[in-house]
Amino acid sequence: MSDPSVPDLVEQGRTAARVGDIEDARRLLEQATRQMPDNIEAWLTLAGVVESLAEKQTCFKQVLALDPNHSEARAGLALIEQKLAAQVLETSSAGDSSGQDTGLAFCYRHPDVETGLRCNRCGKPICPRCARRTPVGFRCPDCIREQENKFYTGGNLDYLIAAAISFPLSLIAAALFTFLLGGLWFFWALLIGFFIAPAVAGFIAEVVRWGVRKRRSRYLGRVVAGCLILATLPFLLFSLLGGGGGWIAAGIFLVLGTTTVLARLR
Ligand SMILES: [Zn+2]
Ligand SMILES: [Zn+2]
Repeated sequence: MSDPSVPDLVEQGRTAARVGDIEDARRLLEQATRQMPDNIEAWLTLAGVVESLAEKQTCFKQVLALDPNHSEARAGLALIEQKLAAQVLETSSAGDSSGQDTGLAFCYRHPDVETGLRCNRCGKPICPRCARRTPVGFRCPDCIREQENKFYTGGNLDYLIAAAISFPLSLIAAALFTFLLGGLWFFWALLIGFFIAPAVAGFIAEVVRWGVRKRRSRYLGRVVAGCLILATLPFLLFSLLGGGGGWIAAGIFLVLGTTTVLARLR
């Protein structure tokens, strides 16, 4: 029996931390750092799951010993040292509330989880479970959401436009699929449907995109997929009840069409 590799241990540790099993996460990551003391990822992840500030400090110092320019570890260590200093201040001047903002170290979404991480945009403390890793550092879910909102430029009217375009087009497409391909031999209906459905749905997605002047909206794909499903279901049911092969083509359009518009209109 061979030991799991260090990258595996780190990955398992991270997964354990994500699901809140901090004890397990800690055990796995400590094993990883023992097995390979020069693994930066292992130390960095361990820093996120150990409880005390002193332990976090040790982890960050280990990373910096291996890579003195590691920006995440530097920021982490600076924060921990700031907090340790604040603790000293607090104990030496008990009752003084000036250390309030620096002393906070609990995740703003999980008030019982202590954390050394902060959102690098708004500065709110976030636990490893809430932190999202972005190319520019750890961010809190609020900041991620806010940036997504900037990314989405469409308004509610766009959903109406999308529905007004995609529903009739989907009706026509579903009818053609059901009645034209339905008359073919099973195998041909399957084969042709398989190739044409994504193209037809892709066309519908492009018309919608043109209709909303290329503005992006969070639920645009889901609205169009919903219209496509609503328009196709009656044909699917009709051909299922009425016999014949139309249901194969309608079914293919339903499934491949939905996945296509969802992928195209992100
Ligand atoms: Zn934030
Ligand atoms: Zn949290």
